[in-house]
Amino acid sequence: MGVNKEMAEYDKYELMRRRLVEELRKQGYIRSEKVYRAMLAVPREEFVPEPYKDLAYEDRPLPIGHGQTISAPSIVAYMIELLDPLPGDKVLEVGAGSGYAAAVLAEIVAPSNRKDPKGHVYAVERIPELAEFAKRNLERTGYSDRVTIVVGDGSKGLPGFAPFDRILVSASAPEVPEPLVEQLAVGGRMVIPVGGYWDQYLVIVEKDRDGVRIRRDLEVLFVPLVGEFGWK
Ligand code: SAM
Repeated sequence: MGVNKEMAEYDKYELMRRRLVEELRKQGYIRSEKVYRAMLAVPREEFVPEPYKDLAYEDRPLPIGHGQTISAPSIVAYMIELLDPLPGDKVLEVGAGSGYAAAVLAEIVAPSNRKDPKGHVYAVERIPELAEFAKRNLERTGYSDRVTIVVGDGSKGLPGFAPFDRILVSASAPEVPEPLVEQLAVGGRMVIPVGGYWDQYLVIVEKDRDGVRIRRDLEVLFVPLVGEFGWK
């Protein structure tokens, strides 16, 4: 591809990204400045397989292979608003998929334009080929210093790196996995889709000195969390 064509492509995606992000803000999925800034910064077209690049800024999930999807931008924005990650946080994402949501989280906990604070995202993916896909995407877009991809069963969490200030689960579990609650820091928050195929809800888990509080939010539709503390 020539330099001029490359520039035109770049501008095209930048424009499409801005339009989508403004629309998501108008619709109320994006409410905070930090999620707005992060969604504008991360190039979603770099996290979808080549044939889907031109669909990257439609608000819908797209196939990433192995029967899995990159979630729709509106649900990524909505879940991250609920999660409310802070600069400097240590975050666990279960279900890295393409690495896109992990990059958006990284852009909040360790923003590209600042040296400090340096938060970090640990993202677990059970399908090794997708973990490789996520790694490549994060490397190409400049997030590999702020995101660590781990291959494994994320329903067990990552005890070696716990406790986590925030946990985002991007696949649906039959119930909230106990190891994830254990690995949540005091003052921490987790957002996770819970329920069967036809009746899933986002669940928000908050841990403080007095214990754990759980509340239910929006109805959603996610691929299953497959693992020891998920679907068998
Ligand atoms: N957050 C991803 C992104 O931005 O592209 C999309 C996640 S996709 C909806 C759900 C992912 O969860 C799939 O890639 C699937 O393989 C993964 N997954 C399912 N069960 C898992 C488990 N127990 N541990 C880790 N990953 C799991």
